Amino acid sequence: MTTIVRSQRVVLPDSVKAASVHIEGGRIVKVGAWDDVPEGAPVDDLGSLYLLPGLVDTHVHINDPGRADWEGFETATRAAAAGGVTTLVDMPLNSIPSTTTPEAVALKVRALEAKSSVDVGLCGGLVPQNAAQADTLFREGILAFKCFLAESGVNEFSHVSDVELATGMARLATVGAPLFVHAELPGPLDEAEKRLGIVTPEDARRYATYLASRPKSAEDAAVDLVVRTAQARGARAHIVHLSSADALDILRRAMDARIDITAETCPHYLTLAAEEIPDGATAFKCAPPIRDAQNRDRLWAALGEGTIVQVVTDHSPSTLDLKCSGSGDFMKAWGGIASLEIGLSVVAQEGKKRGVPFASVVRWMSAAPAKLAGLTGKKGEIRVGCDADLTVWDEDATFTVDAMKLQHRNPITPYAARTIQGRVVRTMLRGETIFTRDERGEASFAARRGSWLRRS
Ligand SMILES: [Zn+2]
Repeated sequence: MTTIVRSQRVVLPDSVKAASVHIEGGRIVKVGAWDDVPEGAPVDDLGSLYLLPGLVDTHVHINDPGRADWEGFETATRAAAAGGVTTLVDMPLNSIPSTTTPEAVALKVRALEAKSSVDVGLCGGLVPQNAAQADTLFREGILAFKCFLAESGVNEFSHVSDVELATGMARLATVGAPLFVHAELPGPLDEAEKRLGIVTPEDARRYATYLASRPKSAEDAAVDLVVRTAQARGARAHIVHLSSADALDILRRAMDARIDITAETCPHYLTLAAEEIPDGATAFKCAPPIRDAQNRDRLWAALGEGTIVQVVTDHSPSTLDLKCSGSGDFMKAWGGIASLEIGLSVVAQEGKKRGVPFASVVRWMSAAPAKLAGLTGKKGEIRVGCDADLTVWDEDATFTVDAMKLQHRNPITPYAARTIQGRVVRTMLRGETIFTRDERGEASFAARRGSWLRRS
């Protein structure tokens, strides 16, 4: 049986127009004119609300099993559904064990299959222990690999040296697996910390102190190392959460030289600025850090010109305790920002102010990350053959962020108390509505139907 969803504004791969989306067996079988409706077919008419492809977020930390009190599959995937995200890729660290062995992949799959409201793919870890045979883990059905070049923040996930990076990249190149890299180098970080000297409790509450401990130079040198290594090993590399706009020239040159490298940035680097972060507001701490407003402008320009290809959240929550929400100590607090449910709202609002077409924002958050994860043709676009993962967007809906009402596990986010215009009001996964929001802003969820996106 065919069902139809139609709207005056459907965000298609190359245009935004009135159209009807025909769905059979959870897939899109036709994208027709608005009035192209077979007789007797049920029609779900959205009027002038935007109909978008379900978003794809390739950078989410779900610390389940092991640290589900920080974030688990149940809460994270509900936050995803409420944020219009129908596909996410889970990062290999902060859960226990880390996703670095076939056994750990199996544990992740068991946890996510039991608890997920949206589809979830897995990223495996490249660590010193498996660098020489990293390609074997790819056979377990993971979509990509991730490594750190500096301390990851948790003991179970070690960072790789430049030699291990080269070894790992060479192995991954043999199977065509993409490697996501957290690009900060330990050398410049250590030097910055030495320059800071002794940090008093008062200094530790200042955002400027934390910012000075993670300079742009640590990112720039790391991006340069990744580019050179990817070139030498013929590997596919992806820079996660780029914050330093000074690294953009290195990326531009690499792309001109046809080195297989891409980069992403995150909602917080695009919408927040160091100058505006209050003392003690550790909800804003992440690594690399949020930098100044002028740096933010350059990241927007890089998205516009294609040097940065996608925007994903790097949703990485912890408990309030670890976030030091009491003491406000930036140097001790967990580095990670929770934003899965409101990523599209904050980026779309900032984009609108900057005159960026909404369809570009949608592409950065759906088709582009789907491509990175090898999911083109299945996820991230309203196109024949793709899963009918659809998000309904009300550009006029205005709301004030209440951390207590967000779906992720621990009620902390740097966007708390912000008033935002533009909100997801409904989400569909493989043709079925999984989330709706009523006029009062109240969320409701259908039964869980998310499943594991095993690489095919
Ligand atoms: Zn991350």
